[in-house]
Amino acid sequence: MRRLPLVESRSAVYDEWPPRPGDFETIPLLRDSRGRSYTYLRLSVTDRCDLACVYCMPPSGEEDHTLRRELLTFEEAARLVSVFAAAGIRRVRLTGGEPLVRKDIVRLVDLIHRRTEVEQLVMTTNATRLSELARPLRDAGLFGVNISIDTLDADRFAEITRGGDLGCVLAGIHAALDVGLDVKLNTVPLRGRNDDDLARIVEFAWSLGVTPRFIELMPLGEGAKLPQSMRMDTDDVITVLGDQLHRTTATGVEGHGPARYLSASDGSGRRVGFITPMSNDFCDTCNRVRITARGDIRACLASRRAINLRNIMRAGGSDLDLAWAMVWSLSGKDRGHYFLDADEHEHEHVGMSLIGG
Ligand code: SAM
Ligand code: SF4
Repeated sequence: MRRLPLVESRSAVYDEWPPRPGDFETIPLLRDSRGRSYTYLRLSVTDRCDLACVYCMPPSGEEDHTLRRELLTFEEAARLVSVFAAAGIRRVRLTGGEPLVRKDIVRLVDLIHRRTEVEQLVMTTNATRLSELARPLRDAGLFGVNISIDTLDADRFAEITRGGDLGCVLAGIHAALDVGLDVKLNTVPLRGRNDDDLARIVEFAWSLGVTPRFIELMPLGEGAKLPQSMRMDTDDVITVLGDQLHRTTATGVEGHGPARYLSASDGSGRRVGFITPMSNDFCDTCNRVRITARGDIRACLASRRAINLRNIMRAGGSDLDLAWAMVWSLSGKDRGHYFLDADEHEHEHVGMSLIGG
C-alpha cells in the first residue's frame, strides 16, 4: 500500500491510501491524490428530458435511461447532499437530463435547502417549464439557474433541440428574472448551426442584465457523433463576436466554476463567459464531483470509474460508509479528461444527460 498523507479529516490525517471502509471516525474533507479539494457537487435528478439536443440526447431519448426504482429518492438525494456538505461541499447544482421533468422537483429543492448545510443551491435547466416553476423553486430555496439556449431563432431552436419551443424557454428566462433568481445563459456554439446567432445571444443576454457563457462542444455521447468540424473553440467564438468584446480585458477565472470572462468593448462592465474543456482544460483546478440520477458517484465526466452510493444506502450503510465511497471514487481521478487523445476514445461515449451535465 502506498503511504501518502492525502485525506485530511477534521480530526486526523489518514496516511494509508486508499483508505479502507472503517478508517474514518469522522467524515473527511474531500481531497484527491493530486491535492485537489472538492467543494462543488453536481447532482443529476433524472436522465430524461423533454428535448433532445443534437449534441446531447439521441432522437428518441437515451435507451439506457434509469428506471423509477433505480432513481435516487428525494430522501436519499438529500441525505447524500448532507454527507457531502459535511465533507466540504459548499455548492450544489441540480442537473440532468432535465431537472424540471422530475416530478415534485420543488420538494427536493425544499428538502435540500432545509436539511443540509450547503451554502448555495442552483440548477441547470432548459427552462421549458420554468415559467410555472420559477417562483415555487425560488420560494423553496433555489438561488439561481443556468439556462441553456443555443439560438434565438424559433425554427433553428426546434431543429437543434429536435422539437423544442423557443417561446417557452424565453418565457422561462423572464419568469426566472422576475422572481429574482440569479440567471446565466449557456450556449454551445456549433459551426454551421448557430454561429451566426452568437452575437445576438450576447446582446439578448446583456439586454436582460444577464451574463452569456459559451461552452465548447465535448465529444461525449451524441456530441461524439457530430462532425468535429462543428466544434468551435473559444478563439473561434471570440472572432465571431469581434467588436463586442475587449480582447485585452480578460477578467480570468471567477466564482465557483471554470468559466473565464472577457469584458464588453464599450466599457459597460458587461461580460461574456467561456468554458473551455477542449481548448484549455481546467482539470488542474477541478473542484467538482458528480452524482448520476441512479446514485453513481463519478469523479469526472470522462471517467467510467463509479461506485453506487444508492446501493450503499439501501444496504443500510452509514454516513461514514458513504464518505469512504466518496473518497475512494476520487482516489483514482486522472489529472485530465484526455478527450483529444484518440486512445482514450472509449471514455467518450456516455452522454451528458446520463452522467449529469
Ligand atoms: N437539461 C439541462 C440543460 O440543458 O441545461 C441540464 C442538463 S444539460 C446535459 C447541461 C449542459 O450540458 C447544457 O448546457 C448543455 O448544453 C450541455 N451539454 C450537453 N451535451 C454537451 C456536449 N456534448 N458538449 C458540451 N456541452 C454539452
Ligand atoms: Fe435535454 Fe439539456 Fe441534453 Fe438538451 S442539453 S437534450 S435540454 S438534457
